[in-house]
Amino acid sequence: MKEKDAGPPRLVSPFGQEHESFGTGWRPRSLSDFIGQEREKANLKVFIDAAIERGDALDHVLFVGPPGLGKTTLAQIMSRELGVNFRSTSGPVIAKAGDLAALLTNLEDRDVLFVDEIHRLSPAIEETLYPAMEDFQLDLVIGEGPSARSVKIELAKFTLIGATTRSGLLTTPLRDRFGIPVRLDFYTIEELEIIIQRRAHMLGASMTSGGAREIAKRSRGTPRVAGRLLRRVRDFASITNVTSVDAAFAQNALCRLEVDEEGLDVIDRRYLLCIAETFSGGPVGADTIATALNEQRDMIEHIIEPYLLQQGFVQRTSRGRVLSKRSYRHLGLLIPSEDHSSDPAFSDETSGS
Ligand code: ADP
Repeated sequence: MKEKDAGPPRLVSPFGQEHESFGTGWRPRSLSDFIGQEREKANLKVFIDAAIERGDALDHVLFVGPPGLGKTTLAQIMSRELGVNFRSTSGPVIAKAGDLAALLTNLEDRDVLFVDEIHRLSPAIEETLYPAMEDFQLDLVIGEGPSARSVKIELAKFTLIGATTRSGLLTTPLRDRFGIPVRLDFYTIEELEIIIQRRAHMLGASMTSGGAREIAKRSRGTPRVAGRLLRRVRDFASITNVTSVDAAFAQNALCRLEVDEEGLDVIDRRYLLCIAETFSGGPVGADTIATALNEQRDMIEHIIEPYLLQQGFVQRTSRGRVLSKRSYRHLGLLIPSEDHSSDPAFSDETSGS
């Protein structure tokens, strides 16, 4: 789903850019500053060091993972560690082969070209990219009709870093051309706590570890959400002249922001309540839920459900969505008494509690 279709702005949305004006200094700048994703980081360090030692361009890298987990940040860090230029674009922005040619011909040896949302490249652009990735050559057709001719342009040996939230939408030939696939996972509460503490320090806000933990618990495993919640909590702290944000203060501020202790907001709770009360806990199809909530099906499937499914609040079965015990407990509702013992959605193991 496109970012602009992601519905009304939500504090807990993993989408979006950080527009607030404190520059880029707060992004981690080296692999050692980058918290979490330890295994991927360790592997990337090996590949970067080996490329530097060989004096060669790093192989092409594909970052796969939900929005807000640090794909862009890692790509920037990699170019810095490689000591090369970082150029950035995104799939939907490259409309014509000429746009891609302009980007590629401006690259110097070993430079990094970062293409966000690479699954949204048009098929024609993808075709142009294949020889560029494989042989560092561009095959361009110049002119039209009988006077059209094809030219080959030699390119510098560059590294393409692609990022995608929807790896299933990538074509196999494109996916196969990346030598280094990297899958990013949600962060633990402990990792987010460190990220929040560091960010708070950079913002000049004093925060106890209890305060950072309250924000971390509600950040849905996503640093972008953590950053956004932190900035809002800091706003409450500045207007109330609080010197240090502790657990109680953070809890209170987040309660006023209607983000509950599981990181769910009003939109999530409305979705869960709809299944619980209107559809007796399910099973119910996505289209039916979308109609009941007056939302698009795409919004339900790609914006609301991923986190709720991942956390076991709801299960997707062949008969439709089914609410788990965890949801009933969380909403403070009585768990229906019918015998659901054979239904996996009603077992404690799947409910994640
Ligand atoms: P993506 O490209 O995956 O959507 P970004 O790289 O734009 O994510 O990161 C979103 C925000 O989260 C940025 O403000 C970034 O600085 C921050 N961030 C992401 N990962 C980390 C991390 N591991 N440590 C600290 N901040 C992070």
